[in-house]
Amino acid sequence: MPPSIRSAAAVFTAGACVLAAAVPAANADARPRFTPGAPGGGDAYYPMEGNGGYDVGHYDLALNYNPKANTLRATAHITARATKDLSRFDLDLKQLKVSSVKVNGKKARYSRKGQELVVTPGKGLRKGSRFNVTVVYGGTPKPISRPDIGTFGWIKTPDGAYVVSEPDAASTWFPSNDHPQDKATYTYRVTVPKGTQVLSNGEPGGSRTKAGKTTWIWNQRSPMASYLAMLAIGKYQVKRGRTASGVPVITGVAPNRASELNTIHKGTIDAINWEEKVFGKYPFASTGGIRVGVDVAFSLETQSRPIYGFQPDQGTIVHELAHQWFGDSVSVRRWKDIWLNEGFATYAEWLWEEQHGGATAKQTFDKLYAEPESWKYYKDLWTARKTGNPGADQMFTITPYYRGGMTLQALRERIGDKAFFALLKAWTKAHKNGNVSTAQFVALAEKISQKQLDGLFNAWLYTKTKPTKW
Ligand SMILES: [Zn+2]
Repeated sequence: MPPSIRSAAAVFTAGACVLAAAVPAANADARPRFTPGAPGGGDAYYPMEGNGGYDVGHYDLALNYNPKANTLRATAHITARATKDLSRFDLDLKQLKVSSVKVNGKKARYSRKGQELVVTPGKGLRKGSRFNVTVVYGGTPKPISRPDIGTFGWIKTPDGAYVVSEPDAASTWFPSNDHPQDKATYTYRVTVPKGTQVLSNGEPGGSRTKAGKTTWIWNQRSPMASYLAMLAIGKYQVKRGRTASGVPVITGVAPNRASELNTIHKGTIDAINWEEKVFGKYPFASTGGIRVGVDVAFSLETQSRPIYGFQPDQGTIVHELAHQWFGDSVSVRRWKDIWLNEGFATYAEWLWEEQHGGATAKQTFDKLYAEPESWKYYKDLWTARKTGNPGADQMFTITPYYRGGMTLQALRERIGDKAFFALLKAWTKAHKNGNVSTAQFVALAEKISQKQLDGLFNAWLYTKTKPTKW
């Protein structure tokens, strides 16, 4: 397109009808072509999670929860920006019933197709324009059960519920662009019967009680991946404090776990104090932890305040809080890079041991490396899958965790402590609140160390053999 026509196209936006008549037919291609946003986010592991054509800025979730009936009546108000000229777009929403959808305050058509909520606004949305979507919905949120993870999503407890959504359960309780590549800020307004508490990510915005019901407000002002959105509803005992650097700490435990409150609270402060020295400044405005009253097989690094599904030892607390840097602030763009979360959080446990009178990370590495073929995890570690691309249903096997951690130890030995620890801080600083790939980590490691590291990363991340030389 020659320059003159391009500038005509720019004017065209402002006064479409007038210009459409005034310009010759040759300029017809300047007319915006509104097309649908992609129904998936393009991740090979979860093709239908996430959606194309827009970028969410903020979720404002008003949730009215009835713990007895385990039902939700909710309104999600989503602010987004179109990344192309959009005729329609999808949100991810599993199971729950939708009763109305508005775009920019006007009723929009919608349909359901599997987990997709397909929204067609009255008129197209121009690329770059901001728009908002209001979805009124409700029903009983159902958890997901999978052999490789267990039960996750919205979990009912005797006095309320809690939510852990990795990797794809956020869409079981709110309409979302449910993929870590589209991070957004959050406001939660959760209404529950008076006497029931709500804990969440970020900072408390107060509560108000009216007609026997209390609405609790929480704000997560740092961008957050949808799988890290969290609620803990019930009767919690809460302890507040501050880290050495002044970060507010809010720790909550279910009444039947009251004996764990002080240990988790102190363990959190100790972990953050140490991690700030090793990884750099804590990335969010508050921290803490929540111990739920029902034992489940896993804990999750829900942003700013992990959920513990079992009594955490200090290693677990260090692991979940290391994720605040590795996974939560610096997030994967594609799930295949999950070792950037789990390998780093595992390595943080080994480093904590090393610097607190336990085994060195090198000793931990050597022990794993020397395990005999008869060891039950031998195959998992060496031949079952690639650390840097383990497979959608293998993301939470020991490969990204242990072999991921071993990758970092191999790297540390190759480039030396000075470059290695500088790299950890440079990585968390350069990509704070962002999304990353393994290639970016390799490039930064090479830049800081001034060494060629392809061989090392290939051997550790992209082969299904036990590395013997790297
Ligand atoms: Zn982890």
